[in-house]
Amino acid sequence: MRYLTFSTVDNPLPRLGALSGDRIFDLQAAQVDGRRAAPDTLLELIQLGPDAWAGARAVFEAEVRLKPSATYVRDAVRWHAPIPRPLKNVFCVGRNYAAHVKEGAAALKTDAKLPDIPVFFTKAPTTVNGPYDDVPRHAEVTGQVDWEAELGVIIGRAGRNIAAADALSHVFGYTVINDVTARDLQKGHTQWFKGKSLDGSCPMGPIVVTADEFGDPQDKRISLRVNGVTKQDARTSDMIFTVATIIESLSKGLTLEPGDIIATGTPEGVGMGRTPQEWLQDADVVETEVEGIGILRNVVRNV
Ligand code: MG
Repeated sequence: MRYLTFSTVDNPLPRLGALSGDRIFDLQAAQVDGRRAAPDTLLELIQLGPDAWAGARAVFEAEVRLKPSATYVRDAVRWHAPIPRPLKNVFCVGRNYAAHVKEGAAALKTDAKLPDIPVFFTKAPTTVNGPYDDVPRHAEVTGQVDWEAELGVIIGRAGRNIAAADALSHVFGYTVINDVTARDLQKGHTQWFKGKSLDGSCPMGPIVVTADEFGDPQDKRISLRVNGVTKQDARTSDMIFTVATIIESLSKGLTLEPGDIIATGTPEGVGMGRTPQEWLQDADVVETEVEGIGILRNVVRNV
């Protein structure tokens, strides 16, 4: 399944949809035997568990065939982040691609040694931004806004002390994340949280592809373009810590819950690692892509 969160002019409440080719099916409007067939939001659907996921799939498959008119063309709706307001911070992994560790160490004057265990930090829930929404540049507080293309993981089944061998069975699906970062704040505050948590600095989406449909998360192309120029182009096979290992490590003594989001780190090619360094400017167009999911397209705006 390919889930999204969308709204329309006639119904501005963000709600659960599913993508069928190039059309969006309004799952919230679907009924079975006179009763609502799916919850309002993707977060609620994830929290309801596997029976509800199977139910939503069955309705989608039946209804789309029966009522192709109950769909919207993708350009006719407003797209929101799949989970517009997560219940907690977005978990993030830093320094998870070797070439990025090297470029980051040179720019931030940190250790160039590859980490032995995953480096975790978080982004505040207020960072979450839509897949096609503007990214505020926050010129009053930072002069160094950078990009980071990442594979996002959405937890489906709760768990603590999850073994790597079982970890992928806890994943509901995958999405695309741009971990937009204010480098001067990241460096200045020592702890990364502040530089990673400016409003709107976590564009996400455009869809969540369920784990069964996405397949192996360690064999996907991940790329990012600024104004059409490729800046990052790597494969998730280059991760130092796999998605399974990240979940095993993060869940040690820490319960992961349905709807939790994990950004799994960015490959080389960020702005701070370039000579000269490059920072996002007003009107820059950033496209963040993960194979099998889609493309975020965000314009940076001075606000
Ligand atoms: Mg990152």
